[in-house]
Amino acid sequence: MIEEKSRLLIVDDDQEIQSILVEFLGCFYDCVAVNSAEAALAALATQPFDLIMTDIAMGRMSGLEMVRQILIHVPGSVIIMISGQRNIESAIQAMRAGAFDYITKPFELGEVAAVTRRALEQRKRFESAGAPARSDESSKELSAAISNHEFVVHYQPQVEIQTGEIVGVEALVRWQHPTRGLLLPADFIPLAERNGAILQLGESVLRAACTQARRWHDLGLSNFRVAVNVSPRQLGQELLAETVASLLQETGLRASSLEIEITESLFMHDDGIGIQTLTELRKMGVLISIDDFGTGYSSLSYLKRLPIDSIKLDASFVKDATTDPDDAALVIAIIALAHNLRLRVIAEGIETEEQLNLLRSLRCDEGQGYFFGRPVAEDVITAWAKQGDHRELLVLREAA
Ligand code: C2E
Ligand code: MG
Ligand code: MG
Repeated sequence: MIEEKSRLLIVDDDQEIQSILVEFLGCFYDCVAVNSAEAALAALATQPFDLIMTDIAMGRMSGLEMVRQILIHVPGSVIIMISGQRNIESAIQAMRAGAFDYITKPFELGEVAAVTRRALEQRKRFESAGAPARSDESSKELSAAISNHEFVVHYQPQVEIQTGEIVGVEALVRWQHPTRGLLLPADFIPLAERNGAILQLGESVLRAACTQARRWHDLGLSNFRVAVNVSPRQLGQELLAETVASLLQETGLRASSLEIEITESLFMHDDGIGIQTLTELRKMGVLISIDDFGTGYSSLSYLKRLPIDSIKLDASFVKDATTDPDDAALVIAIIALAHNLRLRVIAEGIETEEQLNLLRSLRCDEGQGYFFGRPVAEDVITAWAKQGDHRELLVLREAA
């Protein structure tokens, strides 16, 4: 029997390294090479790969950020990272992001071959007996955690950039794990997406966020908004609009105080149900926002077609906008485009005053990020709401 060659995706913006890898690995495997994280995500959207080998430091989107995106969109991917940094911190960062292994430059081809072999073996093991068993166990653990109410929702402030006023919060789910501590979404959302638990989890986050927002309204923050992330799988449910309608009724929250965040990837495989649900939600008065805007790979024309109110400018643009003129140019163009289409722009990942000042000068509408406050438990927001002086952002910054 002829065994099919494994398919490798090689991602490096250094043409020379890319050629060396393709020439060498191409003798054993089917290799596709691209020179940016964006091109890699586009390739992954249309074809399957057994292994991804990627540079860690690349132009606009770093390899680390790309790995995060890949594991959300193609859970179970096996990834090897290559870096010029020889320190242990970089290796730990790569492994934390979800890489299977880490190679430092300059590398020996023998080492590349060995690591590739090991990674492909891991992939095989993952696909055969071991992985389903492990993932069955994790699935059971996840379901039990939902029943035991181990999931908590934290809230991160969203601020109107011109006035500095906190106009709402984004709800971000965490798993208060009995032995592993507080887990972030990257640790469990991909599995929940795969096994369908996201439907139950997503609904409980929506319920918690609507209930909480109504309480904040009752404390006097009558226009306070809550944004909730909704995964593609949830949006594919025909009943989502109905569920949201009954949650709004149950909690007494105005539809315009709820914002649903969706990601661009949705439009890649959309079969129409997602867009229909969005249209229904928007008719009810719920706001719709595109999360991580600019990291996706869909055409911009959907901005005109879709029923949306705002875009969330991805943190990767904000990060370098104050130092890299190319990033600044992109931010300027995205804000102008959105405003021309009458969409609000929320910048994500604002960490410094310089970033805030730049975004203010560019007329960006709202911002979110560690500079204003990290995601915090609901009682921190409640304490802030009760204190009455809503300029006191420091309270939230310090609570982080
Ligand atoms: P997202 O919706 O883009 O959320 C923003 C993420 O950026 C959050 O990570 C937040 O903690 C982080 N962040 C905020 N400000 C800064 C900053 O200044 N610097 C940096 N470096 N990071 C910042 P988190 O909480 O780990 O969530 C990750 C992703 O998980 C979210 O990205 C969202 O896509 C997903 N997620 C979170 N909660 C839910 C949920 O309830 N349902 C679904 N389906 N997905 C969720
Ligand atoms: Mg979000
Ligand atoms: Mg985001």
